[in-house]
Amino acid sequence: FLSLSLQAKMSRPLQARRLEGTDKNIWVEFVKLAATYSKVNLGQGFPDFPPPDFLKESFVRALSGENHMLHQYTRAFGHPPLVKILAQFFGKLLGRDLDPMTNVMVTVGAYQALFCCFQALVDEGDEVIIIEPFFDCYEPMVKMAGGTPVFVPLRPKAPKDGKLMSSADWQLDPTELASKFSERTKAIVLNSPNNPLGKVFSREELELIADLCVKHDVLCISDEVYEWLVYDGKEHIRIASLRGMWDRTIIIGSAGKTFSATGWKVGWTVGPNRLLQHLRTMHQNSVYHCATIAQEAVAQGFQRELELYGTPDSYFVQLPKELQQKRDWLVQSLDAVGMKPIIPEGTYFLVADISKFKSDVPDVPDSDEPYDSRFAKWMVKNKGLAAIPLSAFYSVAHKNNYSHFIRFCFAKEEATLKAANDILQKWKQEKTSP
Ligand code: PMP
Repeated sequence: FLSLSLQAKMSRPLQARRLEGTDKNIWVEFVKLAATYSKVNLGQGFPDFPPPDFLKESFVRALSGENHMLHQYTRAFGHPPLVKILAQFFGKLLGRDLDPMTNVMVTVGAYQALFCCFQALVDEGDEVIIIEPFFDCYEPMVKMAGGTPVFVPLRPKAPKDGKLMSSADWQLDPTELASKFSERTKAIVLNSPNNPLGKVFSREELELIADLCVKHDVLCISDEVYEWLVYDGKEHIRIASLRGMWDRTIIIGSAGKTFSATGWKVGWTVGPNRLLQHLRTMHQNSVYHCATIAQEAVAQGFQRELELYGTPDSYFVQLPKELQQKRDWLVQSLDAVGMKPIIPEGTYFLVADISKFKSDVPDVPDSDEPYDSRFAKWMVKNKGLAAIPLSAFYSVAHKNNYSHFIRFCFAKEEATLKAANDILQKWKQEKTSP
């Protein structure tokens, strides 16, 4: 009798239906591969250099200072000093008065901000437009909320003059984009600067998206975590500043990317109260709030940046300058070995074409696994160099159309980039020597 009742219990599915089809995650696999085999890890997106001293000092001051209340709970929707300075800072950037209590919410990294957006705003049957290639968590997060992701790809156009391709050569087809909007569309996810390509959307491209959002009454979830990482004098334009967009946009940011401290997991959302009030409901019923000390230190970091805004001493000026040089090094070393880089206009990622290396890692035509994924696994195991296959940033239906590229992260110390260059040079010599 006892065993019968035990069996009955075990036959019930353990997993909630909302998890169906979302259990696989490429990061788990590639992070493990990198940890096991890599000598040089240009895979996952985080710096191997330290955050700026002023930020570390702020953390230490918060930790060991007199205000022991910083070790306790703080306001659920954001530590008051942090929401106040974020409201001031983003108010200045957007040219509007922001209320720290209703227009800003602090989250556990941008990741939780995204999760709150989808859970709070997307219903069963709603469609969410996602521009490919995309930061991979958007798709499972939309599905977990009961929504349907609708994909629209950036289409590459090779430059005619034989120059290296730029992330700007990957563009939306306006007619194709417009065809994805319908009365079922609840939101579009915009990620500019874009991970993995490094594309920085131009004003014209953003206006195209904005016009469609206004026309179809669609929300915009604007993931701007790489907002400070733009190169060659490019400008990061905030879609919320375009006509008709403030009321329908949620801006998402990350102290991890902004201050090179990804492990702190401090993120935020900025937007109109009519949207943020629902995010707050989600937030208070999930994580409630994130580490007070990290929030205090990030608040001080922003205070400093507000005072130095636009000056050469600002970290938001210095970091992109340093990263642009690292980008150029990696572009050169990849180009020299024939792994054609697509020059990113922003972010700390760079996508490279591996077509010329196909003979080293033969294709398995009937395999379900995209070629670039097998290539990246082979490369880390045989060459000790970790990168991420571009197909990981595409929907299942489109993975195989874009499977001859890999993504590198160049937010790395000079020595790390040199070590990557040595691996690539040696590889090239082995290829060319008989
Ligand atoms: N959005 C994008 C586009 C990202 O690349 C990342 C991190 N890789 C995140 C959000 C998550 O940021 P955080 O570490 O602050 O959670």
